[in-house]
Amino acid sequence: MGSHLCDRLLNEGHEVICVDNYYTGSKRNILHLLERPHFELIRHDITFPLYLEVDEIFNLACPASPQHYQHDPIQTTKTSVHGAINMLGLAKRLQARIFQASTSEVYGDPQVHPQQEGYWGYVNPIGVRSCYDEGKRCAETLFFDYRRQLGLEIKVARIFNTYGPRMDPGDGRVVSNFIVQALRNEPIVLYGDGEQTRSFCYVEDLIDGCIRLMASPRELCGPVNLGNPTEFTMVELADLVLELTGSSSRIERGPLPPDDPVRRRPDISLAQQELGWKPRIELRSGLQKTIAYFDELLSSGS
Ligand code: UDP
Repeated sequence: MGSHLCDRLLNEGHEVICVDNYYTGSKRNILHLLERPHFELIRHDITFPLYLEVDEIFNLACPASPQHYQHDPIQTTKTSVHGAINMLGLAKRLQARIFQASTSEVYGDPQVHPQQEGYWGYVNPIGVRSCYDEGKRCAETLFFDYRRQLGLEIKVARIFNTYGPRMDPGDGRVVSNFIVQALRNEPIVLYGDGEQTRSFCYVEDLIDGCIRLMASPRELCGPVNLGNPTEFTMVELADLVLELTGSSSRIERGPLPPDDPVRRRPDISLAQQELGWKPRIELRSGLQKTIAYFDELLSSGS
């Protein structure tokens, strides 16, 4: 998401300082920006303070793939919580508007469907996903307390499953896994019975929603769901990837990871009403673009 956001902001004429610790990010995704005069890159981990002069802050920091955020769960919580404190401190010093990339994971394994912003969620506080879920929930708390206590201008988006070009082939999330497995004609591994659902948003649509939220009136602080409301089972996703790649991969079953949410679909009425936003790119065409990206990447030997 970060590199797509940088592209979009630069194309709109902004100056961009991109901060990354490369825990999951890749320099390859911003190589094309390095020569742009209004682009600057800093290697930094936001669990440590950062002093810069900016007008706006987009905080997207934190690995989002279960495989990556569970690899070093303590660091995941620190990134969400200490990272939020540092970025909010920066925003406070500069009186800068600040955007938080929150997540549908704040709803946990939701008992209400589809998920509206008013739903408080159903979250295991001590499970393997908790470092991410509770870290992001605590970050939301911090954002709203900085607003209430200090009058900071905050924008909190709850981002649902997002995919697109520039994902890492080893990211571990379902869309990239299935595409990479299909392109290599290796078995596609469905966790559990594959009847669990997700709703996948193409990255360009998502960025558009984030930009609109950041530009919205001060009173609109969120949280606002951003995602694609069309829901698919993982079996349907696997079938679609097989069809679009023309792969000879067969489907295998693997164990369902603990606390894997059963159903997930955003209610995006708020974003539609307040931001005039809804996703435009259907899963089929988004997958075609993503498959083309991975096809080129894998055939170049990356
Ligand atoms: N999944 C799968 N095979 C994979 C990766 C994921 O069947 O290779 C399933 C996973 O169990 C979950 C869904 O796909 O039900 C989405 O998983 P992902 O890791 O992409 O993100 P999540 O929405 O769970 O954070």
